[in-house]
Amino acid sequence: MAIVADFGPDAQEYIIKSKQEDAPRPEECPHCGVKGCLIGHGYYWRKPRDQLRVYRLEVKRWQCKACKRTVSVLPNFLLRSRHYLLEVIAAILALRLENLASWAVILARNAPERYPALRTIQRWCSSFWEQASRWLKAVQEWLARQDSRSGWLDAQGEALQSSNPAQALLAASEHLLAWAKTEWTELANYGLDKRVHFLWLWGANGGLSRLV
Ligand SMILES: [Zn+2]
Repeated sequence: MAIVADFGPDAQEYIIKSKQEDAPRPEECPHCGVKGCLIGHGYYWRKPRDQLRVYRLEVKRWQCKACKRTVSVLPNFLLRSRHYLLEVIAAILALRLENLASWAVILARNAPERYPALRTIQRWCSSFWEQASRWLKAVQEWLARQDSRSGWLDAQGEALQSSNPAQALLAASEHLLAWAKTEWTELANYGLDKRVHFLWLWGANGGLSRLV
């Protein structure tokens, strides 16, 4: 099991500064719920990549003294089950699902050395499309509760939701980030290109599991 945490969006900086050593320790075990029982249990390697290179980085792992199970702390520039950095995936999702770019345009702009492969890109888009309605529902309920004046909660948002839930989720995530910035000053450097990073951070720890 992995929780997701914000270490800043830059994988290179995470590696150079060994940010895994600052991974937050959850107050209670996410498996059994016992408090104050998590102790360090080393690290495991992840080898995410972008278009040009493969990175090697460590992910912190905690173990529960009560139930012996482990929980790791995944930086939010990584997804649980995808090999590529989230910034690569998010840029492609926006191009395809928001700007409705053709596969040829996406490949020309994003896969200079034939990475990622077209089949990989297509899998991301269809997976995100499959998850979008569930995530969108959760974002909308959240905004309605936390930020009832959010610009997302108008008729325009609803129309988009029914025709293209993936596009609607990308748009809604912008509003979610806008709300979050009023709550946490450390999100000040999250630009529009990091809205999916925040969406993932927010939803992964809220029980939404897979995003892409
Ligand atoms: Zn436990």
